[in-house]
Amino acid sequence: MAKKKITGPRKRGFICLNAHPAGCEANVQAQIELAKQESNGSFDNVLVIGSSTGYGLASTLTACFGLGAKTLGLCFERPSDEKKDGSAGWYNVCAAHAAAKAEGKHLETLNIDAFAHESKQQVIDILKDRYGKLDLIIYSLASPKRKDPDSDTLWSSVLKPIGETFRGKNINLRDSTIEEVEIESANDEEIEHTQRVMGGDDWKLWINALNEAGLLNDGCRSVAYSYIGPEVTHALYRSGTIGKAKEDLEAQAKDIDAAMKSACNGSALVSVNKALVTQASSAIPVVTLYTSILYKVMKEAGNHEGCIEQIVRLFKDHIGPGATPSVDDNGRIRMDDLELSADIQAKVNEIWPTVTTENLRDVTDYNGFEYEFDKLFGFGVDGVDYEEEVETHREL
Ligand code: NAD
Repeated sequence: MAKKKITGPRKRGFICLNAHPAGCEANVQAQIELAKQESNGSFDNVLVIGSSTGYGLASTLTACFGLGAKTLGLCFERPSDEKKDGSAGWYNVCAAHAAAKAEGKHLETLNIDAFAHESKQQVIDILKDRYGKLDLIIYSLASPKRKDPDSDTLWSSVLKPIGETFRGKNINLRDSTIEEVEIESANDEEIEHTQRVMGGDDWKLWINALNEAGLLNDGCRSVAYSYIGPEVTHALYRSGTIGKAKEDLEAQAKDIDAAMKSACNGSALVSVNKALVTQASSAIPVVTLYTSILYKVMKEAGNHEGCIEQIVRLFKDHIGPGATPSVDDNGRIRMDDLELSADIQAKVNEIWPTVTTENLRDVTDYNGFEYEFDKLFGFGVDGVDYEEEVETHREL
């Protein structure tokens, strides 16, 4: 037993050093209730790569609790032990496992490096042993680093513009002020490294390995998540290093799609999702300010969605059992349709130049951003008593 009181988050900018297990559990439970709204048909077996937080967690819960699939998830989290607290993602998957057990659902999680060849083999062995062919494979990794599976090279991704120095407005998350940031253009090596980490290479390796192992069911789909975003973030995001990596992911989707078509009459797709507060997105300068404004505008318009609402809609309308995806001219599902609608973006563009440190909490939903950020780590969650001691060691 490792009980203690965890009263609040210990934050350092976009990093939170601790997590509250009961808060994470309450978050997961609330998402499970929403995931059950997607119960149109069923899947037998689903694999989610990047399953412990953000869009991947929402996908896992939808597959398992909505569609009743035997679900295998992969993540890379800090597990708890008798002395050490776990990461939020660890507590999320432990809570999801407990709920699955209570409801008679099948959910397993492997806490391993998804980029390694051995991990792929481990997953294949488990799928052959306890699952069978896959109906759906979700690829939802967000990682700052990737170790080359064939050498000792460690690639690191950077968030930088390409070609020109970026100068723009940003929220300094350490003191909640508006600052002007200057971010130097990436060099060729940084561009290449970011693509190696966040591009489509690893997704392709996964599909090849699963195909060679005979684990793709007839009509199997694989979906990877991407982001485009508005004009105000383009210099840093879509036209920057991360955008180049996303372009690579989207280009490789076409090859993976062709391979899946011939292998199992299946398909590979990219879903462009909405900007949301997650651990990965909070690390991106400028995007945090954009998200705070976007939340304000979309909440006022009554069409704001969180991860689970986006994913439930994605499954219902595009990738769930029997659904036919609708795609744009580049073959991508556009879950960012509401975010990028002309009226929403016009309001964002109106607010953007007016934001100052003094009016940050009035003209944007920065309070909502902070609330969502804390919630990612289990803090500020309704119904959780933060004065009570909590068991910090959780097991899968
Ligand atoms: P996240 O940080 O919440 O989740 C990342 C997941 O990847 C976690 O489960 C983590 O454990 C796992 N992971 C990281 N490295 C791993 C490794 N080596 N092995 C196994 N698992 C590993 O991120 P997110 O925001 O949900 O992003 C997921 C995807 O969605 C990304 O491709 C991202 O670009 C995309 N996306 C995010 C947003 C957004 O606003 N958050 C918008 C559109 C698209």
